[in-house]
Amino acid sequence: MSGSKCTRLNGALVKQVLDSVDSVLFDCDGVIWRGDQAIPGASQVINLLKQKGKKVFFVTNNSTKTRKMYVDKMSTLGFNAKEDEVFGTAYCSAVYLKTVCKLEGKVYLVGSNAMREELEAVGIQQTGVGPDHISGKQTDWANVPLESEVKAVVVGFDEHFSYMKLNRALQYLTQPGCLFVGTNRDTRLPLEGGKAVPGTGCLLQAVETAAQRQAQTVGKPNHFMFDCVASQFGVDPSRCLMVGDRLDTDIMLGSNCGLKTLLTLTGVSTVADAEAHQKSGCAERQGMVPDYYVESIADLLPALQG
Ligand SMILES: [Mg+2]
Repeated sequence: MSGSKCTRLNGALVKQVLDSVDSVLFDCDGVIWRGDQAIPGASQVINLLKQKGKKVFFVTNNSTKTRKMYVDKMSTLGFNAKEDEVFGTAYCSAVYLKTVCKLEGKVYLVGSNAMREELEAVGIQQTGVGPDHISGKQTDWANVPLESEVKAVVVGFDEHFSYMKLNRALQYLTQPGCLFVGTNRDTRLPLEGGKAVPGTGCLLQAVETAAQRQAQTVGKPNHFMFDCVASQFGVDPSRCLMVGDRLDTDIMLGSNCGLKTLLTLTGVSTVADAEAHQKSGCAERQGMVPDYYVESIADLLPALQG
């Protein structure tokens, strides 16, 4: 394959690249859908890849959905997907705590119902989700009641994030041996029309700042997400393609794990962003330069239909 990176993937090159891989990892938002709208042609691409014997996986930093919720959304939008092909950070953080940390104890959870369900599915107890109300006249913040069984603090997207939760997380994290896991570090969730809302990275940084500790994150670009897929399905990194719309998470994950990388322009990052990393001469930023780019993953269709 050619040595120059950030090459437009079209014509005969599409088939050549697809023939060189057995597995394809797709990010979801900005790649196969935008919000609740499927990217035109995306479901055909996914379904044809599978028909041609490729293993297809979905890797997403979003921690607000369980695997089942993803599959339900995918089938509504016409994608043929199974639960075990979906790797979201709610699921991956539960697997990480169970298999890597071998956690014995309860989780103090700053997160969503989906995270609670995925923890329960692997047999890990947690402290519950929803608002953490301030009881009575709260002034003794440093002595809030704590559960002695808690051995880990896990931070994901939490719409009920509050000073009380931040404080409770800090009190747990100052206890010796308390594990600290975050789903992902995305600071913003981009929306249509140039709008955005704060992402989990903001909450995680608040907890890290308070606790004066760094969390271990499981989401992209951390290699754990790929390890999770590879250990369950025996994926060979050199024959795997990562498709994403973000250079700092999706493409970086691919680079971190030795995968081929494809940027699609239906989401956050642009070719100009990629070229700026490439021309920077900064070694660290080269991981954010994709091997290839397409306007949309629908550009893969002619090669799959042929
Ligand atoms: Mg995305």
